[in-house]
Amino acid sequence: MANRRSFLKAAGQVPLLGTLFGVNAKPTAAKRDYFKELGVRTFINAAGTYTTMTASLMSQEVMDAMEYASKHFVSLIKLQDAVGARIAQLCGAEAAMVTSGAAGALTVGTAGCITGTDQAKISQLPDVTGLKSEVLIQKAHRYGYDHAIRATGVRLVEVETAADFDRAASAKTAAALFFNDADPYGQIKIEEWVRLGKKHKVPTFNDASADVPPVERLSLYNKMGFDLVTFSGGKGICGPQSAGILMGRKDLIEAARLNTSPYSDTISRGMKVNKEEMIGMLVALEAFINRDHAAVSREWDKRVETIADAAKKIKTVTSEVNVPAIANHTPHLKIRWDQSQVKISPLEVKKQLFDGEPSIEVTPSTNKDELVVTVWMLKPGEAEIVAKRIQSVLKSAV
Ligand SMILES: *Cc1c(COP(=O)(O)O)cnc(C)c1O
Repeated sequence: MANRRSFLKAAGQVPLLGTLFGVNAKPTAAKRDYFKELGVRTFINAAGTYTTMTASLMSQEVMDAMEYASKHFVSLIKLQDAVGARIAQLCGAEAAMVTSGAAGALTVGTAGCITGTDQAKISQLPDVTGLKSEVLIQKAHRYGYDHAIRATGVRLVEVETAADFDRAASAKTAAALFFNDADPYGQIKIEEWVRLGKKHKVPTFNDASADVPPVERLSLYNKMGFDLVTFSGGKGICGPQSAGILMGRKDLIEAARLNTSPYSDTISRGMKVNKEEMIGMLVALEAFINRDHAAVSREWDKRVETIADAAKKIKTVTSEVNVPAIANHTPHLKIRWDQSQVKISPLEVKKQLFDGEPSIEVTPSTNKDELVVTVWMLKPGEAEIVAKRIQSVLKSAV
């Protein structure tokens, strides 16, 4: 992030307090209510950046940038060159590219590690016969998104200890994947993973998709020595939901780019990114870096307090705030009550909130003991609505 200041200065940007959350402040001139026409209900998002709920909202600034991009033809390759260079500069990486989400980054990044810039190898995927065909991963780091790595044709080789890594690393190893949020669960911790990768000359890849804020993490893993790092574009950064960032070693980013659109004969041709997402991703990233993060954090605390205070007006209700350390590092409000006195289960409250007017989604981690709410995807004024609704649903069960 050493160059952040100079870049922002060059771009003539000033941090704007008024656009803290970047949520559309300017009313738009939409004449049609498309979702209503289609019979698709909108809801207040007190859950978080879930893909199935469309994750995050883009600011008017980002939408303006995307609209601007939509009105011109440019070379997609030159645009990716330029946007990638800016993103790399902002994140303190050697190189970067905009991908089709972090999952797309996992696929193109892995493909780049397998093929380098060799066109024959690029065309051969997902057949990895005779190529680097294995990716190392800790057993405790296996997760749904490792499918995006396997999609290149590689086999995942599970390791648990450093000695396992030493034994498993070979000329067949394309990369060593680290799932950042799983760090507490694996025996090999993050810095050691990087060290092992360097020892065996195996590229290390960190999936930190959901791990900003804090903003410092945008550059942290590059500094730590990871060869590739990915973040989702449409989670904490509030960029296009179909975009992501892949950053890291220049040779690997170059190789990754050759494995995707606009090139036809590639494994990731279907993971296309057009100019609107590239520009939207860059502008969202600038705005995210430029945000007054302390003020945003204070606003989140205030919203949590508003909801907790309202719920606690109901007898036996208690609450607790938990901020996950790595992924989704934002306050999670957990609300509990004595269900023999307030006769409704948290899952039934969740259902009533969703079915009510306006519809409210709380987090899917709500369970039989507690209702779990986050506030970072709320628009201004919505915390008060959520507070009132939770209070009234609980009150009706007393
Ligand atoms: C959300 C997520 C992804 C996928 O990100 P997209 O940007 O939706 O493609 C990958 N890995 C992890 C850990 C995630 O949380």
